[in-house]
Amino acid sequence: MPDAPLLDGRKILVGVTGGIAAYKAALLIRALRRAGASVQVVMTEHAARFVSPLTLGALADGPVHTTLWPEHAEAGWTQHVHLGLWADLMLVAPATAQTLFKLANGACDNMLTAVALSLRCPLLVCPAMDHDMYRHPATQANLDTLRSRGVRVMPPETGPLASGLIGEGRLPEPNAIVDHVVRVVSETQDTSMSGKRVLVTAGPTREHVDPVRFLSNPSTGTMGFAIAAEAALRGADVTLIAGPVALDTPLGVKRIDVTTAAQMHAAAMEQGPSADLIVMTAAVADYAPADMHAHKLKKGDDDLTLRLVRTPDILAKLGATKPGGQTLVGFAMETQDGVANARDKMKRKHLDAIVLNVLGEPGAGFGTGTNRVTLLRADLESEELPMASKADVARMLLDRLA
Ligand code: C5P
Repeated sequence: MPDAPLLDGRKILVGVTGGIAAYKAALLIRALRRAGASVQVVMTEHAARFVSPLTLGALADGPVHTTLWPEHAEAGWTQHVHLGLWADLMLVAPATAQTLFKLANGACDNMLTAVALSLRCPLLVCPAMDHDMYRHPATQANLDTLRSRGVRVMPPETGPLASGLIGEGRLPEPNAIVDHVVRVVSETQDTSMSGKRVLVTAGPTREHVDPVRFLSNPSTGTMGFAIAAEAALRGADVTLIAGPVALDTPLGVKRIDVTTAAQMHAAAMEQGPSADLIVMTAAVADYAPADMHAHKLKKGDDDLTLRLVRTPDILAKLGATKPGGQTLVGFAMETQDGVANARDKMKRKHLDAIVLNVLGEPGAGFGTGTNRVTLLRADLESEELPMASKADVARMLLDRLA
C-alpha cells in the first residue's frame, strides 16, 4: 500500500466492466481513496450484473455513472464529456475482452466507452478474463492497438481463474493496481515547468472605509486560480497571492491571502524578485479611502465625501525593478481602444506581455466560467485566443508564455 499522499488530490475515474473480477472494484475504490484520490465510477450494464452500482457509489465520491441517457433531463447528457475533462487518469479495472475490443475500435455505445473517447488524461486498462480469451490473437491485437495509442496496460496475473482453469487472466489485487496507478500518474506528469518559480496574483482587493464597508469589484479570481493550477500541474513551484475569493487552493500551490492593495503589494514585492514568471490577474483597487474609520460610520443628514488616495501600482513597480530573465505579464480590462491602450500599458509598465480581456461579450470577463482574451507580446503581433473555459485559456496562455 503506498503512502497516503501519493495520490493526494488526484482525480481517478474508475471504469468497471462485466467480468467476475468486478467484485474487486469495491476494494480498489477504497484503496484509491485511502491513497488520497477523488474517485468517480462509471460502469457498464454488464458490470452491474456482477456488482451493484449502489455498492460502488457508496464507496466512491458520488453515484456511479451507468448510462448515457440520464433519467432526469437536468442531469444532462454531456456528462461523458465532463467526466473526461475531470479525470487525471482513467483506470478500467477489470477490462473485459469486449470492452478492450470497443476501446481499440473507438466504439462509444455506453457511458464507459463514450468517456474513454472524451479523455484528456492517460488511460490505464487492467485486462481480466479467462486464459484463452486473454491469449486469443484478437484480444492481443486489440491490446497492441491500445498500446500503440499510448494506453497503459497492466498485465493480468497468472493463477486460478473463475472457470476452474489455471492461467493468465486474473485481475491483480487492489493494492498492486493502486501502486501501478501511482507509477502511471507520476510518469505521465507534465514536468515542462519544473524548476520554474511562478507568482500569480488573483481576485479583487478590498479597501475598507470602516470595519463593515469597503470599495471593491466583482472579480472572482477564477482566471488567476486557473493559471496557478495549470502551472502547478506542469511542475512549477507556484505562489498565488489571492484577494478575498471563495475558491479552493489548487493542488500543489502555495497561497498567500491578502485583503487590501497595500497587503498585495507587500506580498508581491517579497515574492516577485525570485520568480521566473509573474502573472498579475488581480483586479487591484486603484484608490483606497484616505482614512479607515475604526468604528462603523454613522449616517447623518448630510452627504458624505470620501477622500481617496492612490494605491501602489504593483505591476508597474515590479516592472521597474524586473530582474533579467524574468517574464512579467499583466492583465488589462479596457472598455475602449483595448489593443492600443493595452500595448501602451505594456510599454509603460515594462511588461513582456499583456492579456487583454475582451469585454461586452457574453461568456467573457468577470464572474463567468469562460473567457476570451487577446494576448499581446512586446515583440510579436497580437493574438486573439478563442472563447474557452478559463482552465483552457490558462493552458493556451502558459503554452505561449512559459
Ligand atoms: O493599469 P491597469 O490597472 O489597467 O493595469 C492592470 C494590470 O495591472 C493588471 O495586471 C493588474 O493586476 C495590475 N495592477 C496592479 N496594481 C494596481 C493596479 C493594477 O498590479 N494597483
